[in-house]
Amino acid sequence: MAVYAIGIDVGGTKIATGIVDQDGTVVTCYQTRAHSEKEPEHVIAAIEEAYRVLMGRGLVAAHDVVGVGVGFAGTINLPRGCILISSNLPAWDRVPLRDILTERLGLPVVFDNDAHMCAVGEHRFGAGRGVRNMCYVCFSTGFGLGAIVEDRLVTGHTGSAGELSHVVIEPGGALCTCGKRGCLMTYASGIGIARMINERIAAGEATILREMLPPDGRRITGEQVAAAAAQGDRVAREVLQRAGYYFGVGMAILVQLFNPELIIIGGGLTRIGPLLMDEVTRGLYENVQPELHDTVRLTPWQLQDNIGIIGAAAEVFESGL
Ligand SMILES: [Zn+2]
Repeated sequence: MAVYAIGIDVGGTKIATGIVDQDGTVVTCYQTRAHSEKEPEHVIAAIEEAYRVLMGRGLVAAHDVVGVGVGFAGTINLPRGCILISSNLPAWDRVPLRDILTERLGLPVVFDNDAHMCAVGEHRFGAGRGVRNMCYVCFSTGFGLGAIVEDRLVTGHTGSAGELSHVVIEPGGALCTCGKRGCLMTYASGIGIARMINERIAAGEATILREMLPPDGRRITGEQVAAAAAQGDRVAREVLQRAGYYFGVGMAILVQLFNPELIIIGGGLTRIGPLLMDEVTRGLYENVQPELHDTVRLTPWQLQDNIGIIGAAAEVFESGL
């Protein structure tokens, strides 16, 4: 009998959902941007609507769906099934999302940090198949990490293992969204790139990015910065290179911590290409113990844009529901 899971990826700007089979194939998917930066009740309603849309297509019988996986961009508490804080989505403090969705959808819900789920997805269905010790790192709005050690996801005591975003690498450095200073995310992330651009514009540096800033106060995107860099903008190039280098520093930390055989690098910012990614590699190899250089392989993500959906479904299958 075919068995399916529903994967839901709640990101900073969109909710991606899909029905996934046991082989990791997305049967059908649905995406909404309606929730962006809205209150929790809007997001929960958007998830319910996505569930109805997916099941309403009649491709899969309800009794063949074993559960729902929900990945969320933020620091979570696994035992309580709630979000502690999210840099991208305000007003989520301690919302018991897992229990709310279990009740509303009438199905078992597996809840986790989105990068954890992406790691499980790549390990089970993607570039990490057959690898016992691996890490998935995500270069996007934040710095996401999921570590697989001896074939098992490392969750930690309360589920926040791998929150590398908020490891301090520059004591007293730039103010982070978490309230601390000098966190890795203040450099190696989309949020960090926007912060560094804003600082250099405020300092009066000459850059075409000044005219590209969104008028409504939203963050400038990595893609916009990459476009400016492609036009030869010095500030754009330097900021992207700095972000990439620090991302590599983050990877060096996890090589020292976990001794992975493989690091899978994903996230939308990786599409910027060599300007950014060459610096990622430099940041890694300049900051990892030389004896460990040839212990780890790097590879791009295989699941690409469906990684959040497939990863969330993979955790449902792994949970044995
Ligand atoms: Zn922080």
